[in-house]
Amino acid sequence: MPDLYDLLDVAPEATGDEIKRAYRRKAREHHPDAGGDEETFKKVTHAYQVLSDPEKRVRYDRLGDDGTPGTRGGDPFGGFGGGGGFGGIGDVIDAFFGSSFGGGGAGGPRRTQPGRDVLVPLELDLEDVATGVQRPVEIEVAVGCDTCEGAGSASGAAATRCDTCGGAGQVQRVVRTAFGQMATASPCPRCDGGGRTVDDPCDDCGGEGRRVERRTLTVDIPPGVDDGDRLRVTGAGEAGRRGAPSGDLYVELRIAPHEVFERVGHDLVADVTVPFTQAALGGSITVPTLVDDEAEVAVPAGSQPGDVLTVRRAGLRDRSGRPRGDLRLRLSVEVPTGLAGEQRELVERLAELRGEHLDASGRGLFTRLRGAFQR
Ligand SMILES: [Zn+2]
Ligand SMILES: [Zn+2]
Repeated sequence: MPDLYDLLDVAPEATGDEIKRAYRRKAREHHPDAGGDEETFKKVTHAYQVLSDPEKRVRYDRLGDDGTPGTRGGDPFGGFGGGGGFGGIGDVIDAFFGSSFGGGGAGGPRRTQPGRDVLVPLELDLEDVATGVQRPVEIEVAVGCDTCEGAGSASGAAATRCDTCGGAGQVQRVVRTAFGQMATASPCPRCDGGGRTVDDPCDDCGGEGRRVERRTLTVDIPPGVDDGDRLRVTGAGEAGRRGAPSGDLYVELRIAPHEVFERVGHDLVADVTVPFTQAALGGSITVPTLVDDEAEVAVPAGSQPGDVLTVRRAGLRDRSGRPRGDLRLRLSVEVPTGLAGEQRELVERLAELRGEHLDASGRGLFTRLRGAFQR
């Protein structure tokens, strides 16, 4: 099974935006409508679905595709040889205990732990989805401490080796697993895996080198987003401890229902009502559209309730750059009430001309159904 990063031609550390751009390029190249190979298109799309979802991507990085260990070549944790069908045992350990398993030997603190990712919800209107929009997002997040400039110490002195773990950043434990007892490592509780502590913690951040602050960021929302989509703002998450890299910010989109328009994929659907004379005789109606002002739509003579009129390209864009969807109008027909005088006479005359008897028994009305009851 090919590596999903290879399928998209991106590096394993590619950002969400890079993955999106790579997918657009590949999707255009392989789209069956453009003469591409459907199998390749499906594979590329699958790769994007996995790598564009932060949770799925983390899982893939650890376990490979579909949660199957060892399907990813060149796994950075494959320190135990890794070649066999079940993947390297390092992968399995890693899946159980997180990426802190160092394999013993050389020791030394593990990689600097970056700050955590932050997830915030953001509500949008359907109009925002149609046009794309910039929105301020307020988050409460750890940022680098100004007082100690991220060092964590009041004097500005560098952190020194942690006494608890001797600077290794991790403590050894023996754990029982499906494979028997194994020595494994977990982050040191005192230095939180960093391997270093400060003697004179900064008053403003308590030695963390970061503190919580309220921040407002402007997020660019492209047109065509879906309910539940997550946008990633690289490096806008929690600051790392004492100058370690920041996590990412994910903005999860919620799209509020619209009073008039219902979204069906990239199409919009709305109900319109016309008088029965117009349905019978035909004509045209002017309807509001979501973003452009309005559209004129022909109502064919003899239109029936439930018929659908289509305004091409008055729907939504999508994120892959395909043409806009359509606006579909479900037709209702209004039957006049309170007919009297000349109006009533005219309709009675119409019924007469069409041979529609107002007091007729219901016999003829079921003609089409009768066959269904006779066995
Ligand atoms: Zn500080
Ligand atoms: Zn320690």
